[in-house]
Amino acid sequence: MSSWEIGVFASIDAGLGVHLEVAQELGVPTIQVHAPHAGTRNPGAAAAFLKRCAAAGIRVTAVFGGFEGESYADIATTARTVGLVPEATRAARLQEMKEISDFTKLLNCSTVALHIGFVPHDTSSDSYRDLLNTTRELLDHVKANGQQLNLETGQESADHLLQFIADVDRDNLFINFDPANMILYGTGEPIEALRKVGRYVRSIHCKDARWAAPEVRGTAWGQEVPLGDGDVGMERYLRTLQEIGYTGPLTIEREIPQDRDRQKADIGHAVSLLQTLRAEICG
Ligand code: MG
Repeated sequence: MSSWEIGVFASIDAGLGVHLEVAQELGVPTIQVHAPHAGTRNPGAAAAFLKRCAAAGIRVTAVFGGFEGESYADIATTARTVGLVPEATRAARLQEMKEISDFTKLLNCSTVALHIGFVPHDTSSDSYRDLLNTTRELLDHVKANGQQLNLETGQESADHLLQFIADVDRDNLFINFDPANMILYGTGEPIEALRKVGRYVRSIHCKDARWAAPEVRGTAWGQEVPLGDGDVGMERYLRTLQEIGYTGPLTIEREIPQDRDRQKADIGHAVSLLQTLRAEICG
C-alpha cells in the first residue's frame, strides 16, 4: 500500500463530513466516516455503504463516534457536552460506542475514533478514575472486534493526553492527530505536540486554523480556515509526520457543512496542495 494516501472526512448520515459522492468526485482513495445514526447502524446499511465505496474505489480507514447532545458552539459548551467525559451520559455513550465499534467491524474497518472530551485535570478525582475504567471497558470491546481506538487531539495538551493514555494502560489506544484542533482549542503548538505524541499517532487530520487572540486563547475558538491558509504550516506538518514515521492516510477535514459548495472547493484545493507537498517531500 502506498504511503500517505489522500483521504477526506465523510458522513453517511450524520456529522460534518462530505457525502460519499463528493469524495468520489474528488478522486480520493480513502475516507474516514462519522458513524451514522443508530437507526442506520445495521448490517444492511453497512453492506450498502461498502458496495458504494467499492464502486467508487474508496476504502474506509476509520469510523468516528459521535453522540446526540454534543455541541461545539463554544469551548465551554464543548467541554460540557462532548465525548465520554460528561458524567450524566457516560454509561449510555459507552454502550453506544460499543455499538459503533460493532458497526465499524461490519465496514471491515479496524479503527474506531473519538473525541473523548475534556479529560479531567485532577487525576486523583473520582471522575478521572471512572473515565479510565470506562475507556478500558470500551477498549476491551474494541479489541474483541479486532480493532484499536484513536483519540482525536485538541481538547488536551500533548502531556495530558500522554498521561491519560499511560494511565489507561491498554495496548490498543492510539491517537488521531489533528493539528488545527491544537490551535482552535489553544492547547499547544501543533508541531511540538506531534513530536511529543508521535509514537501513538495512527491516523491524522489535515486541517488548518488560526490562533485566537492571546488574551482569549483556550476560552474562545481560533478560526478554522482552508488548508494552507492557517498557522499549522502544512509543509512542516508533513515533514514532521515523515520524521515520526507516519505512513497512513492524509485525511482532509473542512468543517463548514453549512456551505457545501465552498467545502467541496476548499477540499479540492487541499487535495492539490497535499499532492504537491507529498511529491516534494517523498520524491
Ligand atoms: Mg479533526
